[in-house]
Amino acid sequence: MSVACLGELLIDFVALESGVTVGDASGFQKAPGGAPANVAVAVARLGQKSAFLGQVGDDPFGHYLAGVLQENDVDTRGLKFSTEARTALAFVSLAAHGERSFVFYRNPSADMLMRPEDVATSVIDGYAAFHFGSITMIGEPSRSATLHAVDYARKAGKLISYDPNLRLSLWNSPEEARAGLLAGLDLGIHILKISDEELRFLLPGVDVTDDDPVAPLWRPGMKLICVTRGADGAIVYTRDGQMAEHEGFTVSAIDTTGAGDSFVAALLTQVLAYGDAYPHHLNEIVRFACATGALTTTGRGAIPSLPTTQQVLAFMNG
Ligand code: ADP
Repeated sequence: MSVACLGELLIDFVALESGVTVGDASGFQKAPGGAPANVAVAVARLGQKSAFLGQVGDDPFGHYLAGVLQENDVDTRGLKFSTEARTALAFVSLAAHGERSFVFYRNPSADMLMRPEDVATSVIDGYAAFHFGSITMIGEPSRSATLHAVDYARKAGKLISYDPNLRLSLWNSPEEARAGLLAGLDLGIHILKISDEELRFLLPGVDVTDDDPVAPLWRPGMKLICVTRGADGAIVYTRDGQMAEHEGFTVSAIDTTGAGDSFVAALLTQVLAYGDAYPHHLNEIVRFACATGALTTTGRGAIPSLPTTQQVLAFMNG
């Protein structure tokens, strides 16, 4: 029941006021960011073993981020410090309902310069699952590093999980973004998590309320596709046509950052815990993952709001 995550780790500077642009904000609060890193911390918070593989700058921000992962019991043996580039920065502003807009400083940043030989494959060996995202697949050399890691994990028999993140401003064009995100499906993945917004982007004209909306996304070897719907919960589909849905928990959301990441972490830990029997527990799995995601929205910042298993169970029961 352990997960190794690979990808970007960066500093989010979050605007102090909601509802303003990054340019108009009076100041910013520093917070650790990066979806795969959030997943690693979320897995640890849920009580399972996790590792993070990636690269930050050999600078105060990079060392701060490494410290945050270590304080949260994430194995950082696969985290490298680059002297060639700085830790990535993202300035983030929150709109009224906690939705985010970003301005990135990656010109280039250390995460983009990770090379295949920087991937600590021996760390992957020690974990049951391997999780990655799409940001490190945007450009070289981090694209080759990601492909190398996924290939290694797949050959080593790990459960492979992929969560594409739509950050259009990081791609040259929407068409390139669509092709890039879809390319991740062809890497031998087993579990795919996308949001309803990403579904509409990947499959123009398709909506999560359609009959079998994920049909065009299946690839050989894939077992589960999960579509998250923000406050409206999530739907999980299996290859053999089963489906389980949860309508979402009602919470007063303050900041949705990390909701999808904690959802993935919960999904993975549950699937690993049930083992081969997981298809018989889809309703429990999607409910647990929705509760984990919902709790993550109730505080500012991703990592401080990630719940423990006890907190998720208490919330579901109470
Ligand atoms: P992402 O962060 O990847 O865009 P979502 O916003 O769909 O993902 O959130 C993932 C999960 O977190 C949802 O499926 C839901 O269970 C939970 N969640 C997110 N936002 C809310 C909210 N406002 N209220 C309750 N639950 C939420």
